[in-house]
Amino acid sequence: MPDLLQQLHSNPLSGWLARSLGLPNPVTLAREDGPYAARPFAGKTALLVIPGDGMLEQPLAEILERGGANRHAPDDLAGDERIDILVVDASGIRSPADYTTLHGQLHPLARRIARNGRVLLLAPLPEEAADPVGAGVARGLEGFGRSLGKELGAKGITVNLAYVARDAGNRLEMPLRFFCGPQGAYVSGQAITIRGSVQAPEATPEKQLLAGKVALVTGAARGIGLATAQRLRQEGATVVCVDVPGASAELERSCEQTGATPLAMDITAENAPEELAAFIQGEFGGLDILVHNAGITRDKTLGKMPAEYWQQVIDVNLEAIIAIDRALLDAGLVRDNGRLVYLSSMSGIAGNFGQTNYATTKAALIGYVRALGQVLADRGICANAVAPGFIETAMTDRMPFFTREAGRRLNSLKQGGQPRDVAELVCFLSLPGACGLTGNTIRVCGQGLIGA
Ligand code: NAD
Repeated sequence: MPDLLQQLHSNPLSGWLARSLGLPNPVTLAREDGPYAARPFAGKTALLVIPGDGMLEQPLAEILERGGANRHAPDDLAGDERIDILVVDASGIRSPADYTTLHGQLHPLARRIARNGRVLLLAPLPEEAADPVGAGVARGLEGFGRSLGKELGAKGITVNLAYVARDAGNRLEMPLRFFCGPQGAYVSGQAITIRGSVQAPEATPEKQLLAGKVALVTGAARGIGLATAQRLRQEGATVVCVDVPGASAELERSCEQTGATPLAMDITAENAPEELAAFIQGEFGGLDILVHNAGITRDKTLGKMPAEYWQQVIDVNLEAIIAIDRALLDAGLVRDNGRLVYLSSMSGIAGNFGQTNYATTKAALIGYVRALGQVLADRGICANAVAPGFIETAMTDRMPFFTREAGRRLNSLKQGGQPRDVAELVCFLSLPGACGLTGNTIRVCGQGLIGA
C-alpha cells in the first residue's frame, strides 16, 4: 500500500497543505533492485575516521578503495561536499578520554552527511577488553550509534555498529558492503557482532555471489518469502520454494516468475522433515542456504487464547523448524559453509499485546540461533535471525488505518519497510562473505522505537 504522507507531499495540490500542516515528509529511501555491484561505492564520498588507535584502518581503507569510493580525509572535504559513507574505526577505543576524541572528530561531520548516507561504527568486542572500563567504553558506542541514528534517520541516513573480534579483521568486506550500501536502506540502529570463529570459505565470487548455491525458502508463495526467493535468484542461487498445498496455485505462479522450483508441503505435516530431506537429497544432493520464513499469527490475549491457537503457532513457527533442521543436519544435507536464516520478529524482542504465543516462538528463535551458531561453527555453517519491524505486506494492508499509520511512523526513517528490505538482509546473511556473522539477530525495522 502506498505511503500516504509521501503521496500527499509529492502531489502539487496537496503538497502545500501537507507542508503548512507540518506533516513529516518521509524521505524516499535509496534502494537497489539488482544484485550486488562489483564496485558498490563508485561515485560515493567516503570518510574513514579513527578515534584512538584504530586496528582496522588498513582493511577498511582497502575495502572502500576496492569498492570504488572517493575516499577523503576529513580536512580534504570541499566546502559544500556531503559525505555518503562515514566509517568510524573505534576498534582501539579504551577509555572515556577516547570519547572526547570521538566527539571532536564527529561533531563537525554530523551535519555534512548526505541524504540516504550511511554511518558504520566499528567497536572492539566488549568481552575481549582488557578490563571492565574497556568493556564499558566499547559498549557505550551502542548508545552513541543508536542516538545518532535517531537524530539522522529523517534524512534516510542509517547508523549501525559492528563489534569486531580481534580475529575478525579479515571479515569486514561483506558487512561493509551491506551496511554502507543501498541493500541496508531499512536497517538502522543495529549492533552486530563479527567473529572469526566460523571457518571462512576458500574463495568468494565478485558477482553473482550465490552462483552454484542451492537454497530452500519456506513460506515463499508470497510476501517476504517470495521477495527472498527472488533476491537469492538474482545472486545466482538455485532456489526451492515451499508453501502449503492450499497455496499451490500462488506458489506455481510466483516460481514461474522467479525461476524457482515449487514444492507444495505443509511444514507441520508429520513426515514433512523426512520428505524434505529426501527431496533435497534426490534433486541436489545437499543444501547451502535454508531460510525458515514460514510463520503464522493467531492473536488473542492469554486469558482468551484457545489451546489450538497456542499450539498452531508453536507448531509452525518453532516445532517444524527444529524438526526440519534436525532431519537435514542429521542426514548431512546442510553443506559445509552453509547458511541458516530464521525469521524472528520485533514481537520476539519487545513482546506484543495479544501475541504471547507468537512472541514466544520468535524469541525462542533468537536463543536458538545463538546456541546453534556455536555448535555448527566448525563446519563453517552460520545461523542468524532476522527480526522485521513494520513491513508493507498483505498482512499490514489489512490493519485499521490508524494502527497502520502508527506502525509506519514509529521508527527513525518514518516509514514502513518493503519485503525487499527483509530479503536484502536475508540475502546478506546467506552470502559466503557473511562468514563473520553467526548467532546474531538483526532487526530490519528502520530503527523501530519499540523494543529499541
Ligand atoms: P505471509 O503470511 O504473507 O507469508 C507467510 C507464508 O508462509 C504464506 O505463504 C503461508 O502460506 C506460508 N505458511 C504458513 N504456514 C505454513 C506451513 N505450515 N507450511 C508451509 N508454509 C506455510 O507472511 P509475511 O508477512 O511474508 O511474513 C514472513 C515471515 O516474517 C513470518 O515468519 C513472519 O512471522 C515474519 N514477520 C513478518 C513481519 C511483517 O511485517 N510482515 C514482521 C515480523 C515478522
